[in-house]
Amino acid sequence: MRAISKDPKVPKILINEKRQATFEENKKLKHFPSGNTQYSVKSIKTELSIIYASKCAFCEDTLLNSAKHIEHYRPKNKNDKAIKCDASTSYFWLAFSWDNLLLACTKCNSSKGCCFEIVGTRADYEKDYADLSLAEVQDLITTLDETEKPLLVNPEQEEQSFFDEHLAFDMKTGEISSKNKRLAHTIHICNLKRDELNKLRLELINNLRNKINERKNDYRTHNNLKEYARDIANLRKDWQTKLKTNPKFSALYKYIDTHFKELLT
Ligand SMILES: [Zn+2]
Repeated sequence: MRAISKDPKVPKILINEKRQATFEENKKLKHFPSGNTQYSVKSIKTELSIIYASKCAFCEDTLLNSAKHIEHYRPKNKNDKAIKCDASTSYFWLAFSWDNLLLACTKCNSSKGCCFEIVGTRADYEKDYADLSLAEVQDLITTLDETEKPLLVNPEQEEQSFFDEHLAFDMKTGEISSKNKRLAHTIHICNLKRDELNKLRLELINNLRNKINERKNDYRTHNNLKEYARDIANLRKDWQTKLKTNPKFSALYKYIDTHFKELLT
């Protein structure tokens, strides 16, 4: 995960007449009808793809050649049968709220499902929000977060330093972890330790490790310490240049950059 900066200006399509009508209808129904995809239109997906650099908000895998899902941070539906988490609240009234829409891959999206655990007090829709218009529910995230204190990390609400400080990777397995309670919860809910992700991350790590080993072998052959130091410095520079381009798994890039010395031993 990495911090995401999003222009708060709400795309007009999210508050047009058609969506206002659906929003008012859903108030009566008290849920978001399955099959309604009015939040998932091409222009919104395109805008989110630019904001998220075509990467999943949670696992950071690239979505250039795979399905892009509009992920509702606060779920638009509930699932009373959910076992792994509290999924008992439908935030149907936030289905068209710009600050509630993230971009995610199929696996993270389905793994998260309707989960939304909090440690604060659940928002009281009837008491505080039922009278608001669609335009008025567009900018509530700060208020809601303060009251509810969600466990799920929202990349749009965190500083980059939060991820840099608290995310860790096992250099032998590619597995992601965190001692931070909210990040650990997010890793669990989105299943970010899944085998396919570990494999992809490990490929990146081993690729770099192989390059380092090539330099080490050169050093053993030529015994030229100055050349070895220069080669390693160049590898590190290339790594940092790649990190600046916001590649897929940029959190791993950052972690390796910080722990580069560990790969040399
Ligand atoms: Zn993902």
